[in-house]
This record gives sequence, C-alpha cells and structure tokens, in this order.
Amino acid sequence: MTTPLPTDRAALLARLAEPRKYDIAIVGGGATGLGVALDAAQRGHSVVLIEAHDFAKGTSSRATKLVHGGVRYLAQGNIHLVREALHERVHILGSAPHLAQPLAFVMPSYKLWETPFYGTGLKMYDALAGKAGLGRTEWLGAAETLHLLPGARPQGLKGGVKYWDGQFDDARLALAIARTAAAHGALLVNYCEAVDVLHDAGRAVGLVARDVETGREFRIQAGCIVNATGVWVDALRQYDARAAGKPVTPMVAPSQGAHVVVDQSFSPGDHALLVPSTADGRVLFAVPWLGKLILGTTDAPRPDLPLEPQASGTEVDFILREAAKYLRRAPTHADILSTWAGLRPLVKPVGEAGSTQSISREHTVLAAPSGLITVTGGKWTTYRAMAADVLARCTQAGVLLPRGASHTAGLHLVGAPAPGSQPVGLNQPPGLHLYGGEADVVSALPGADRWLAPGLSEAMVRFAARHEYARSVEDALARRARLLFLDAREALRAAPAVAKVLQDERTGDPGLAAFEALARSYAGPAASAA
Ligand SMILES: Cc1cc2nc3c(=O)[nH]c(=O)nc-3n(C[C@H](O)[C@H](O)[C@H](O)COP(=O)(O)OP(=O)(O)OC[C@H]3O[C@@H](n4cnc5c(N)ncnc54)[C@H](O)[C@@H]3O)c2cc1C
Repeated sequence: MTTPLPTDRAALLARLAEPRKYDIAIVGGGATGLGVALDAAQRGHSVVLIEAHDFAKGTSSRATKLVHGGVRYLAQGNIHLVREALHERVHILGSAPHLAQPLAFVMPSYKLWETPFYGTGLKMYDALAGKAGLGRTEWLGAAETLHLLPGARPQGLKGGVKYWDGQFDDARLALAIARTAAAHGALLVNYCEAVDVLHDAGRAVGLVARDVETGREFRIQAGCIVNATGVWVDALRQYDARAAGKPVTPMVAPSQGAHVVVDQSFSPGDHALLVPSTADGRVLFAVPWLGKLILGTTDAPRPDLPLEPQASGTEVDFILREAAKYLRRAPTHADILSTWAGLRPLVKPVGEAGSTQSISREHTVLAAPSGLITVTGGKWTTYRAMAADVLARCTQAGVLLPRGASHTAGLHLVGAPAPGSQPVGLNQPPGLHLYGGEADVVSALPGADRWLAPGLSEAMVRFAARHEYARSVEDALARRARLLFLDAREALRAAPAVAKVLQDERTGDPGLAAFEALARSYAGPAASAA
C-alpha cells in the first residue's frame, strides 16, 4: 500500500511562511498552473503555487470532459492545433488510466451527404493522429448506428460515422497533477490569493499572498512569477503594471459554455453522440460520464468574470432543443439533474511593445516588462504542452535558469493504477475505482462501508480532507466526488453528512449553507424554490 502525502493546512502554511526564495511562483491552480508546477518541479526547480479558491474551482472543473484533438478546429483548417492536441491525448490517457480513457463517438447522419462529408474529415483526423490514434474511423449504416447509439432518433436516420477521442474526470485529474507536483517537492496551497506583485527595480520578484480563511498575509519571493489565472489573468497583470504606472490592455475576452446533465437512459451505452452542426453552427455532444449523460455546450460572449457563472435559461433551452432533434426521447427541464457553466479564456491580440509572444493560436504566453509571465487560453487536453511552452518562455525571458528538458511525457500521476490493470469505464457510476492505485488506502480509512450518497463513502471524504486538500463540503462534493455536477439534488441530500465528516476531520467551517445555496442553483428553479 502506498502512503499518500498529507495535505494538512497548518503544515502547508508553515512552509509558506518560511523565508526562502523559490525558482518559480505560480498563481492559479487550474489545469494550466498545475501543469506548470508539475513540469517545473519534475525538472528540479523549487516551486510554489497558490490558488485563491480550490484547485480546479475555475474553468478546469467545468469542461465537457473530452480529451480531444478538436474536430471543430479541423473544420476550421487549424491543422497544427489539431495535431498537437491529438498527440497530447495519449499522454493524458497514459498518465492516469483510471481518470482518462479512450471514448468512441458516433455522429448520426440524417442527410445522405453527411456520412461521406464528415467521414472524410474524420479520416483526416485519424491521419493527423498517426501512431497516436486511438482507433479507426468507420462509416456506419443506419442499423449499426442505432445499435451503438440506441437512444438516437431512428426516423430518417441514414447512417453515421464512428471515431475515437478521449474523456476524463477533469477536477480529479487536476488534483492528481497537484499531488504529483507535491510529490516532486512543490508547495501547493489552495484558498490563498495573490493580492499583489512585489517589485525590485521594476522586476517582478515576488507575491503578496493572503490566506482566504484567516486573512493572514505571506510574502513569497521568487525568481520567476507565472500568472496562470485563466480568465482572471488581467487582474494580476494590472497589479504588476501598477508599479510601472502604466495600465495594461486586457487580453481575455471570456466566452461562456453551459452543460446540462440528464439520466444516461436518454442515450444508453458507452458511445458518445456528436451533433456536427447545431442551429448556431457549433458541435454539440451527448457524453456518457460517471453514470449520467452530459449535454453541451454553448458559446456566448460574457464580459463579466463570475467565479460561479450560471447557465442562462436561453442556453439550457438551446441545449435541450438541439439534443431533442437527435434523441429518441427528448429531455425536458424536468429531466435536468444538474446544470453548470464555465468561462473560456479566449485571447484578444495584445499590443504591448516588444513583449508578446504567441506560441499558438490556442494559448498565449506573454512576458511583461517586469518579467511577469502570463499564460492563458488553450485547452485542458494540451495542458502538458502548454507547461513546456511556459517554462521555455521563462527561460528565454531570463527569469528562470534552464534545467533540461521536460520529462512529463509518459509520467504516471499519483493514484495511477498498476500497469496492466483494467480500469473501470468512465461511463460507469462513480466509486472506489476513481481512486486507482490508492483505492486500498481509502478502504482502510474509517467509514469505508458507510455510504453518504451513491458512490461516495465516509472514507472518501476523510481521504479528501487528509490527502486531497479538501476544506469544505463544496470541495468534497464538487471536485473530489463529482456529485454536484452529476445530480445536484443528490448532492444537497448528502451535504449535511459530508459536513459532519469534515468537522470530525477538523478542516474548519465546512461551509454547509453556502454549498446548499450553490447546489440549488445547479439543480435549477424547482430546487431553488424548495
Ligand atoms: C464550457 C467549456 C468546455 C470545455 N471543454 C473542454 C474539453 O472538453 N476538453 C478540453 O481539453 N478543454 C475544454 N475546455 C477548456 C479548458 O477547460 C480550459 O482551457 C482550462 O480548464 C483552462 O484552465 P486554466 O488553468 O487556464 O484556468 P482555470 O481553470 O480557470 O484556473 C485559473 C485559476 O486561477 C485562480 N485565480 C484567479 N485569480 C487568482 C489570484 N489572484 N490568486 C490565486 N489564484 C487565482 C482561479 O481561482 C482559478 O482556479 C472547456 C472550456 C469551457 C469553458
């Protein structure tokens, strides 16, 4: 049995208070920041990462759960981007097979031209993946399509195309990356916000960090500061620029994407459904995930930056309407188990003289005159490649000494099961299998046989508090277990029992009332009125 590292908060804060200078300090504990922390720590740099809320509380827990090359980008002719993501897919799948797995998609065709048209494009997707391919694209007849997608609307069905991508548990993967970085010596602290950038002779040399729970402030010294705060990057850029007395031009134009979760019986089986072109010209997915079905997503500009963006009525109606065109049984508002939304950090062109570098159209890495390195954009699938780009930029900007090449390709994350073991499919309901090689550690904790909700034991909550940085009911039910995203009413029912376990683990105020209000908003209007 492996012994996981403890994540005792007092010990983490005591380390944060030590007077020392880190090679690199990262702000933001989403996929991007955590990826940088892991890569840097693995190369042997001294690393600290602070996250204002919980790890993956931002966009990184709100993805459509696809590890994908992006068929949409293929249609846009962005070959480089697709090829990079297709190759990154295999690294994610190999790094945590219990949390990221291949997934077969079927695109049903209701017009005769669709199968050859989309099929040819998807054959190109295969060709771009080359040896990194997960399976061959196949053209299907109507009967085969219905066999693989029994929930698809049979009237007018002409055939379909089957192709391969991947799916994952985004928040649990984020935690696995965080814990692996910690195992390589990085210090990661959640609920610790960067409230200012420290300067010396115009250079960014540190951060003022505030413990959100107590208000206590820490001064962190580092040679290199990385701003990986997703859609919120402009705030830290402003703190940095204040010292020079020059405002910065905002670089992020956020766009909201919403999801609706319904019972998996609307599209039973282990194949995802792809709608190639919705009324607004996007793709829409119906993805079997942890025993439920995710429908999404949308794409609407959103100028404000809420931490908890809510899916609008228009978005929910749109998703239900588009899904109804392709499903035998149309989901209605009464079928919704949970809704959630996330904000994409889309990058606007930035014109800071001599200081920008666009590494790809997808993500942008920018060095400010102070040496502050900002990274945003991209997608979850390419987090590892983005981290390598960020570290290369840090070195190029002269704020980080080079320390050899990245070794994160082929790395097994903490919790990865032993090679050769057959992981349970991510379309199955949650359970101990999501703990991979650490399942026996969880089973040895008190309460392993006491179930607080389907797939969630008392022992899992204890594990979350002791080894996965969980502080609150929301941390436990939204990102360690995914119940809030799967079934918000079930999460509401489990919340008081989860709060009691956390109190027993002495994590502080478990925030029960705040979680209940949040879960009602995920559950929709009926629960809000209850
Ligand atoms: C609807 C939607 C669906 C998507 N689906 C997919 C998909 O299926 N597959 C895929 O590959 N990609 C997908 N993406 C893209 C992917 O989710 C994002 O690219 C990725 O999660 C961005 O991660 P990030 O770390 O840059 O940002 P975030 O996850 O938002 O992390 C930034 C973090 O910084 C923290 N922070 C902010 N300010 C401070 C501060 N002052 N101090 C400390 N911390 C701070 C925030 O709390 C936050 O946790 C999707 C995106 C959206 C919106």
